[in-house]
Amino acid sequence: AKANGKHQVQLFTEALNAEANYKLFVENNLRRALTQNELEVFYQPKLCLKSGQLLGMEALLRWQHPEKGMISPDQFIGVAEETGLIIPIGKWVVRQACRMSKQIAAIGMGTLQVAINLSPKQFSDPDLVGSIAAILHEEQLDPRLLELELTESLLLEATEDTRHQLGRLKSLGLTLAMDDFGTGYSSLSYLKKFPIDVIKIDRSFIKDIPDNQDDMEITSAVIAMAHNLKLKVVAEGIETGAQLAFLRRQHCDVGQGYLFDKPISGRELIDSLRRYPCR
Ligand code: C2E
Ligand code: CA
Ligand code: CA
Ligand code: CA
Repeated sequence: AKANGKHQVQLFTEALNAEANYKLFVENNLRRALTQNELEVFYQPKLCLKSGQLLGMEALLRWQHPEKGMISPDQFIGVAEETGLIIPIGKWVVRQACRMSKQIAAIGMGTLQVAINLSPKQFSDPDLVGSIAAILHEEQLDPRLLELELTESLLLEATEDTRHQLGRLKSLGLTLAMDDFGTGYSSLSYLKKFPIDVIKIDRSFIKDIPDNQDDMEITSAVIAMAHNLKLKVVAEGIETGAQLAFLRRQHCDVGQGYLFDKPISGRELIDSLRRYPCR
């Protein structure tokens, strides 16, 4: 048992070292990534579930490391938050996303709303609202075409300052969405204390439809309650026709998932626009 205990300690130390090394690797490389064009924004289409029309897309960050290849955001957003790098990276994402929506409009493919993910850490930047307003102005994008996907922890830990920032973002004309709804502790009535327009039902509720009766009941109840509160509902992670059929029957407004498209590069997005019914 003693030898085993020692082995456990050793494994634990190794894991900690590996984690520390990994963080150091990301920290050192991420600074360069931003200046050396290694970051890229991918886009995942969002569809009207009633008409099948393309409504917009979600911007999702990708890191193409010269040696390690594609690194997914789950592997580096945490470090970006800890180091504060998420602030310049986040601004860069907003600008890229605005340009993509503008570019699509410029080639006559419609006015598409683009959503970006904001981490709570970005709200510690006193210049957050000002910088988003400046980017919208510089890129000449209608603020109604920009949507912000927020995390529940932002609202749960909201200070007066955060409330004020959310109010200003809303006044600019932006759409505010609650991401990953259902995974945390907030309720729909709680959300109404904030200027939220949209909820995104987390993929974990969608993935086992139609096998899991509980998930189906939770999903349909959430959709009905959200509609009563005048909130629009997006379902994420739709992978099958059965999931789509169920969500349509429940009058879910918007859908996103591999069934329609994976996140794709800006170029691929433009090429794929033809596949969707005209708006
Ligand atoms: P999220 O905002 O919940 O984004 C949805 C994730 O689900 C994305 O993973 C997307 O690729 C994936 N997904 C979409 N449809 C399906 C599906 O049908 N099946 C499955 N299995 N997965 C699907 P991704 O791109 O790896 O992003 C992971 C997370 O990283 C995002 O979760 C978001 O929290 C964060 N993230 C991504 N880009 C940014 C960014 O620019 N800023 C910040 N702060 N966070 C970001
Ligand atoms: Ca999101
Ligand atoms: Ca999500
Ligand atoms: Ca998530």
